[in-house]
Amino acid sequence: MSTIELAEGQVCFHDLNLPTELCRALEQSGYEHPTEIQAKTIPPLLTGRDVLGQAQTGTGKTAAFALPLLSRLDVQLPETQVLVLTPTRELAIQVSESFLKYGQHLRGLRVTPIYGGSSYATQISALRRGSHVVVGTPGRIMDHMRESRLRIDMLQCLVLDEADEMLRMGFVEDVEWILQQTPENRQIALFSATMPDPIRRIADQHLKNPSVVTVASKQRTADTIQQRFLIVDPKHKLEALQRILEAEATDGVIVFVKTKIATVEVADQLKALGYSAVALNGDIPQAQRERTIDQLKEGTINLLVATDVAARGLDVQRISHVINYDLPADAEAYVHRVGRTGRAGRVGQAILFLSPKQRGALRELDKAAGQGIEPMTIPTSKEINALRETRFKERIAVACADAKTASFRGEQFRHFEKLVSQCAEEHELSVLQVAAGLAMLAQGDRPFFVSEAADRPPARERDDRGSKRERKRGAREGMVDLGDEIGADMESFRVEVGRIHGVKPGNLVGAVANEIGLDSRHIGPIRIHHDFSTIDLPSGMPREVFKVLGRAWVVGRQLRISKVSDQPRRIKPMYGPKGSKKRKA
Ligand code: AMP
Repeated sequence: MSTIELAEGQVCFHDLNLPTELCRALEQSGYEHPTEIQAKTIPPLLTGRDVLGQAQTGTGKTAAFALPLLSRLDVQLPETQVLVLTPTRELAIQVSESFLKYGQHLRGLRVTPIYGGSSYATQISALRRGSHVVVGTPGRIMDHMRESRLRIDMLQCLVLDEADEMLRMGFVEDVEWILQQTPENRQIALFSATMPDPIRRIADQHLKNPSVVTVASKQRTADTIQQRFLIVDPKHKLEALQRILEAEATDGVIVFVKTKIATVEVADQLKALGYSAVALNGDIPQAQRERTIDQLKEGTINLLVATDVAARGLDVQRISHVINYDLPADAEAYVHRVGRTGRAGRVGQAILFLSPKQRGALRELDKAAGQGIEPMTIPTSKEINALRETRFKERIAVACADAKTASFRGEQFRHFEKLVSQCAEEHELSVLQVAAGLAMLAQGDRPFFVSEAADRPPARERDDRGSKRERKRGAREGMVDLGDEIGADMESFRVEVGRIHGVKPGNLVGAVANEIGLDSRHIGPIRIHHDFSTIDLPSGMPREVFKVLGRAWVVGRQLRISKVSDQPRRIKPMYGPKGSKKRKA
């Protein structure tokens, strides 16, 4: 993730010849100047030229293609003119929201996100009504195209967003197929953070004299984000989190945990402590997840406890803090998590919890961040108590000041003054005693001060070696992100697509990853047979997951997944970052 870097020489959006409707929307979004990728990409895309862009998310890439494509759109024509392919449903939603935001003053504009895991019926009726811009994951887009529900004969531009990620998820053949169906004169914009050979081949084969745009990212995380780590014993993480939330000036906060179960557990623990915390994980229905994110945006909720998958691509500008409550699976995940704060050039805080034995992970994360992750300590009871005293006094002072400005409050305030004075006189108390009595009433049974006895000595490496078994578990914690509910045991499943249907292992990995949000590292060996295939998945996944998978379409056929054996076996996952070579074989 790189900083929002503005174009050199402070170009204005007006200099880029964008229609006034779009400039108005940009003003309302608070964008003053184009970012580097926008300044370099908007002019060639406006003239209809192909673009090959090397840029990461966080650079303003979405607006870089959405703005020129919206400028060239004919909203009177009820045909799909822009098709954007994205590797994940989260990105599909985010990109469609951006199109709608930038195109809010284009009357009649219709944008439809299409992705696995959401209802076909809604997508079909949106497509039937006619959609100017369609944004989606390759598998679902292909299904709709094969059934002629999505027609692209009038397509002006195809955007391939995060092409390297689509390659990693096994979508390249689907992308090639879609490319072949597009009209000959369409424009193509291909964006990728890296340019591996298969992506370069697609570019060479399908892009005509493209304008090549590269935005160098000097560092992976924005320098407006202060990054700190805290060595904390796993038993005391909740308490440390509570103290941090109290001590720091927070707005929206995302607490990242490793498993779906942990999202619910930690959210419940925080709720019990009086915070408005909500869990966000892949098991929660899409509509509810979207509602939660809207509430976070509006400020109805302040604390989100999320897994990496559920928070992928999340773009909420009021996130002041990212707490890495559980260690991220790898450096990539760390960089992504940290990038959820400090959005659009704002200041952000990222705090990483490490158990003493996880300290070794710091070096790699430090390197990935490209800037120092500084040590911090848990706020002491003395600091917390001093803060509570200051806030207590401030709140009273604010209430008194407010009473002077609002007339209704002023009246009530004078009434209370009279009551306090009467109370002092009738009960032979000083006004000071009455005020203290009122504070006691307001505080209730909860202690006002944190006891100093609750301060824990800072966790030290040698104090906390743990048992051999715990150590082994700890080592795994840092490496593999296996959910609590999904164990290391794998089970074999049969899907009704095979060699004769043209399926490749990558199609199945992509479908499973997208339909149920399972990280590809949890997917075991895939065997392609004549007219069916088998795939190994972690045992113990909820039944609903298989319902969704069974209905999913791959290479034009439904998977109709069924269990092969009832005997769980212990097999190492093959796919994901560490086994990605095997997938090619
Ligand atoms: P993206 O790389 O498209 O994911 O954009 C990253 C973030 O930058 C999003 O929060 C955008 O809303 C924001 N953004 C994009 N362009 C600009 C701009 N020109 N000025 C300020 N913020 C921007």
